[in-house]
Amino acid sequence: MDRKFWLGTGWKMNKTRAEGRAYAEALQAVPDLQQLPMQLFVLPPFTALAEVAASLAGSGVLVGAQNCHWASAGAWTGEISAPQIAECGAALVELGHSERRAHFGETDVAINAKVKAVLAAGLRPLVCVGETAEERALDAATVTVARQARMALAGVAAADLDRVLLAYEPVWAIGEGGTPASPDYADAIHGALKNAVMDLHGRSVPVLYGGSVNAANALALASQPEIDGLFVGRAAWTVEGLLGLARAITPIVEARPHAPDRADRN
Ligand code: PEP
Repeated sequence: MDRKFWLGTGWKMNKTRAEGRAYAEALQAVPDLQQLPMQLFVLPPFTALAEVAASLAGSGVLVGAQNCHWASAGAWTGEISAPQIAECGAALVELGHSERRAHFGETDVAINAKVKAVLAAGLRPLVCVGETAEERALDAATVTVARQARMALAGVAAADLDRVLLAYEPVWAIGEGGTPASPDYADAIHGALKNAVMDLHGRSVPVLYGGSVNAANALALASQPEIDGLFVGRAAWTVEGLLGLARAITPIVEARPHAPDRADRN
């Protein structure tokens, strides 16, 4: 399994093209960007995707979309396909964020089709899973996230698993009013998720944690053995925020077993 550590941010429906470009240019200008021992990524809105990808070309920072359609082209008014995303210079596609599941009715079956479309386009899916507060109260977190992960990855070819990432994002931890998961709790769920993927495919995939990550909790979360990355919203919507997190976790990322080799970067 890929043991590099991941750190990235999804901007949701925020930032104009100019703001996105300014962020990308400021990040590209960080003198020691290429020395940071983790794989950075940024997920702008579709409107800024191509120019953020162009601004960050050669920086080692991966750029991705926040959703895509399962078809490669056709009569799907208002939708964007994985090949269209690839053409913008993206490398990643986030799928199944809880806001998309809750507000746009995205099902596990649809997410499975999207995962396959993203892989067919040569991109990496970053599949979000997470239990609601009600599911957690019923002690059903593991059941929920294992089901979501198994559904998302059902029928994925073994050779494609190398490109798959999961993000554990408990719904109760995300956004304004969210409560970050404790490092121990997140670590246990990550372990269960990896076991679920192992049962399905005979191997596992990296699992990132997301949900109210901030400067105060990033180090403790990144110190957990089963946490392979941090997927951040609000706290990384400025370059200073993203870099602050990167610098806070650098010592622990460098000390991890199988610390990332620069040559291993995408
Ligand atoms: C998210 O919405 O996926 C997220 C991680 O947001 P935040 O970090 O702002 O809680």
